[in-house]
Amino acid sequence: MRYADDFIITGSSKELLENEVKPCVEDFLAERGLELSKEKTRITHISEGFDFLGQNVRKYDGKLLTKPSAKNVKTFLESVREIIRVNRAVKQETLIHLLNPKIRGWANYHRHIVSKKTYVKVDYHIWRALWRWARRKHPRKSCRWVRQRYFRTQGHRHWVFATQPRGYDGTPRTLSLYSASSTRIVRYREVKADANPCDPAWDSYFAHRQGMRMLERLQGRGFPDNLWRQQQGKCPGCGQLIVEDDRWVIRPIVPFKAGGGRTVTNLKMLHSTCQRSFRIAAGKASGGDNRVPAP
Ligand SMILES: [Zn+2]
Repeated sequence: MRYADDFIITGSSKELLENEVKPCVEDFLAERGLELSKEKTRITHISEGFDFLGQNVRKYDGKLLTKPSAKNVKTFLESVREIIRVNRAVKQETLIHLLNPKIRGWANYHRHIVSKKTYVKVDYHIWRALWRWARRKHPRKSCRWVRQRYFRTQGHRHWVFATQPRGYDGTPRTLSLYSASSTRIVRYREVKADANPCDPAWDSYFAHRQGMRMLERLQGRGFPDNLWRQQQGKCPGCGQLIVEDDRWVIRPIVPFKAGGGRTVTNLKMLHSTCQRSFRIAAGKASGGDNRVPAP
């Protein structure tokens, strides 16, 4: 597994990794004028675990769990506390606007792994820092007053750091601090074991992985799912992948009016922006005898 210049290699024994794999990697890197970092390279048993890209990977009684690494959580909390400390004089609204993207970004990064408990812990520490921030702003006021001024109950959640600033049109709207624990955990699709991002033969596979997200979204939607698979995710208009964020449409090759069926073979999924070019292409492909315009 590799990300930028960080990577993991797994092997069945320490000896294999030490005596065969490591020299192999060193040769591979040397050819490209690179070498392994002495401090950052480690051979370790999976039961002890290791940190990779801010996450800790470890087997607990044979079960592999990936969690946000202790160091990552610490760094994140420090940066949040720093924002709160520096902004002791700002309005609550401003502080929420500063913190929300940061918390959401961090929580999203970890949303594919076992993060629930860490989210709860992080929310607690942020709440504590905000409570101190609010108390310090009004040293003469009671706890009760401070609580009523800065915290609200929302549904079953108490102590939500929230305020009701007025919008541009003068109506108040609720602005709440983003809670890391409200992030939905989404299981991640594993990379095929023999996939090699340095090998151009695998380019399409890694491009396809993006499409996998799309498949996940289409799953259970029956027809579009089958259609997307049948086209290998590619748009017939431009030849590029149709991915999650794209807008897409389904169009027939032989128009329905001309007797074209609503079948996988007669329909194509394409980017909505590629509809026009596809219509022209489809018209030509049918040899000119099919002049019925596409719907
Ligand atoms: Zn397209």
